[in-house]
Amino acid sequence: MTPVPGAVGQVLRGWARRHAAGCQVITPADTDEAVRALSACAGQGLSLVPRGHGCSYTGTALNAGNVVLDTRRLNRVTAFDVETGILTAEAGVSMAAILDLALPRGWMLGGVPGGPWITVGGAIGNNVHGKDSYLVGTFGRSVVALTVMAPDGGLHRLRRDGSAEQRQWFDFVIGGMGLVGVVLEADIQLRRVAGPVVAATTLVFRDLAEMVDLMERHKTSADMMLGWVDAFSPDGRGSLEVSTFSPVKPGDRTPPIMGRPERLFGLLPTGPTYPLLRSVISARVMALHNVYKFRSDSRRGSVHTDMGAHAFPLAFHVPDVAGLFPGGFVEAQILLPLARALEGHRAVLALCRSHGFESWLCSSKLFRGDDYPLSYSMEGISLCICLPGRLAKRGDFRAFYDRLVDLTAEAGGLINLTKDEFLTTPQAHRLYPGLKAFLDFKRRMDPETRFDSDFHRRLTRPA
Ligand SMILES: Cc1cc2nc3c(=O)[nH]c(=O)nc-3n(C[C@H](O)[C@H](O)[C@H](O)COP(=O)(O)OP(=O)(O)OC[C@H]3O[C@@H](n4cnc5c(N)ncnc54)[C@H](O)[C@@H]3O)c2cc1C
Repeated sequence: MTPVPGAVGQVLRGWARRHAAGCQVITPADTDEAVRALSACAGQGLSLVPRGHGCSYTGTALNAGNVVLDTRRLNRVTAFDVETGILTAEAGVSMAAILDLALPRGWMLGGVPGGPWITVGGAIGNNVHGKDSYLVGTFGRSVVALTVMAPDGGLHRLRRDGSAEQRQWFDFVIGGMGLVGVVLEADIQLRRVAGPVVAATTLVFRDLAEMVDLMERHKTSADMMLGWVDAFSPDGRGSLEVSTFSPVKPGDRTPPIMGRPERLFGLLPTGPTYPLLRSVISARVMALHNVYKFRSDSRRGSVHTDMGAHAFPLAFHVPDVAGLFPGGFVEAQILLPLARALEGHRAVLALCRSHGFESWLCSSKLFRGDDYPLSYSMEGISLCICLPGRLAKRGDFRAFYDRLVDLTAEAGGLINLTKDEFLTTPQAHRLYPGLKAFLDFKRRMDPETRFDSDFHRRLTRPA
């Protein structure tokens, strides 16, 4: 492979530690350098994929044998109107940087996922969601305008309220996994909140029916909610963390925004836990851990904390989560419509149990819908099935996954495309009817496939 000027050869990995790819990495310092990088790729017949912090689990930000545009030096917040809450950020600005700036001024970024390093471009590319997905929807719902680089290197301003043609492109960029435009800058509408302090209450439930009731009960008053399900328990017991923002009390010290939690899963002291866990972790250990966590959550009650500790507990203390899972991890995040969620998720947990594939980490979120064609969103409830990668080698894994897809599709649900590595092309089209229109649009606007990725090649490979 002829090196592209300014590129560094590197082996990059997906966050789940299941994919690696030798790529040429270019890290532009500004828009001009990004445009020149694309032009250099085109000159050498190479394709390019944008990459933020590389927190994608699978191959959406990998481009084997080709070029990866690392956007992390495009890291300036170029405007922030504290009256309207509109913030303009370059693609490489991290979630943590925005929260640090906005929360003390009473503004919150909607749809913040569980990694502080995740970038604006990556959050748009995968149209991510946060603990407030029932309230504000996906990250893309807060985006009002974008500056994107087209496959021919042209720069375009796309507005949510622009012409029909602009709006179509805007909609495909959101959740478009970097395949129909490289986001260089985004205008984001932040949400007013009462203050930077997070008051979090942990409520336990004995089964999934109680969890659904609790979510419904708190959805109008809570700023954020996150469920944890003990997938090893027969009925799906667990806990729901319900939190609200509140102001700093007069006389109190303003807390840090990105503090560090002291305990992992609210239970284990964080310092020595990671190396210890790594050496002993197994399904049996996770089942035991869940018993202790459930007991500890039953006693937890309410705490006041900061956004960092609240939003990113795993990321801060087990930055290499995948390292805990033998062979990396695989995740199927299943979102089912409200009316089918209870019965459907019971069936999902039963299916996992029948194969001995109980999820090691099983979180649950309440969602609302949006209308981006590739969005992982609807009025419904999600459940994460997260397993050690080595289980994917077991003979019954494919049959298990196919059944999971059938259960999801029959209930009118979704498996998160951007986290998945097992959906076949027909299965992906079955779950995402908008995928065909997206791929047609991509072929029209990028006929030479200047934007490409390992994920895109897998998805479009002939059967
Ligand atoms: C600890 C942790 C917790 C997480 N929690 C959540 C969660 O709660 N909810 C959730 O939805 N996800 C979650 N994720 C997944 C993560 O949010 C997404 O994978 C996110 O897209 C990663 O952002 P990134 O900046 O690392 O982008 P990357 O992983 O580098 O890229 C993500 C995608 O966006 C594209 N992209 C990157 N930059 C641009 C750009 N400038 N223009 C256009 N496209 C671009 C890439 O090509 C790729 O397709 C979590 C991941 C981790 C590691």
